[in-house]
Amino acid sequence: MQRTAGKVIVPFFISHGGCPHSCLFCDQRRISGSTGELPSPEEIREKIRLYLDSSARESVEVAFYGGSFTMLPLHRQRGLLAPLQPLLDSGRLSAIRLSTRPDAIDPVTIALLRELRVTLVELGVQSMDDEVLAASGRGHNAAHTVAAFSMLTAAGIAVGGQLMPGLPGDTPSGALRSLRALLKLNPACLRIYPTVVVEGTELARLYSSGDYSPLSLDAAVSLGARLLHTALGAAVPVIRMGLQATDLLSGPRGVVAGPYHPAFRQLVESELCYDLLLKLLHQRVGEVTVGAHPSWLSTVIGQNGATRNRLKAQGVRLEKVLPDPGSSLHELAVTCGGITRKGNIVTDLQYCEAEGRHV
Ligand code: SF4
Repeated sequence: MQRTAGKVIVPFFISHGGCPHSCLFCDQRRISGSTGELPSPEEIREKIRLYLDSSARESVEVAFYGGSFTMLPLHRQRGLLAPLQPLLDSGRLSAIRLSTRPDAIDPVTIALLRELRVTLVELGVQSMDDEVLAASGRGHNAAHTVAAFSMLTAAGIAVGGQLMPGLPGDTPSGALRSLRALLKLNPACLRIYPTVVVEGTELARLYSSGDYSPLSLDAAVSLGARLLHTALGAAVPVIRMGLQATDLLSGPRGVVAGPYHPAFRQLVESELCYDLLLKLLHQRVGEVTVGAHPSWLSTVIGQNGATRNRLKAQGVRLEKVLPDPGSSLHELAVTCGGITRKGNIVTDLQYCEAEGRHV
């Protein structure tokens, strides 16, 4: 069961559904772990019923992920959305979200989405650089994204954006430019998926012939920290970073190269925590205690104690990381030598080009 910011989301994966394109990186079946069959109205109702029965909450959200929902024939889109209408009427379903391509939004589609009360559309923006989009075989350009945001927003439908740093032709500074261009469109939320090479895709062929090099995990974490910090600074929630782990992706015929990590977001957040700790320590060394939001303790410590080890190399002994219910999610309090300093990864860090990290 997926929970996002207190919401329970009932996911349906529409693999390659309605999509005539073949982006270099895409194998929706492996990425989503789905068979590609569209669920029947009975299957939709039954799955939602199971979620409602097992949730203490009064209502849930439905999300159609993967593929390109609005490229399905209109009667198929209606067939997926119509069974949800009585649940919206009863208040047991609070919202419907779906994902699609920026060039699959037009007035006819928007009329259907409005009639069937879709709340949020997530656009597979991937990049705002036309050369990167062309090199990735996307078949749309940045102008399609701008137009889709404009049409959906005017219709009162919230819009989210997905970005894929590390596509062919992309660079860290290009990925940052894409994010800034996307933020100007006022997205309701973002997903950031660093590009990975999946077996059986055209990108895998380019990789094996030496014509494509993915970001290393370290480079993706470092870039991810910059992108996350920028998005949070613009008060736009990043609802996912890195692909969700599936058996197919983790298996021998899944990801063949690239920055795939089942806890990618935590790596990124730990990086920002480390930068903030260094800043708050202000070159002091010795024993340190850190207070953090109770849900962030393992993020501060880092995977396999990574932060502890990095601080040790700087002459700092991370003694304890204690829950501080008074702290906000992004806030840390560092006590060293009897002095406590507080800081926030969003408001108290800025990126330093010379050092290549946040200071
Ligand atoms: S548009 Fe989406 S579903 Fe279609 S090939 Fe590209 S990534 Fe895959």
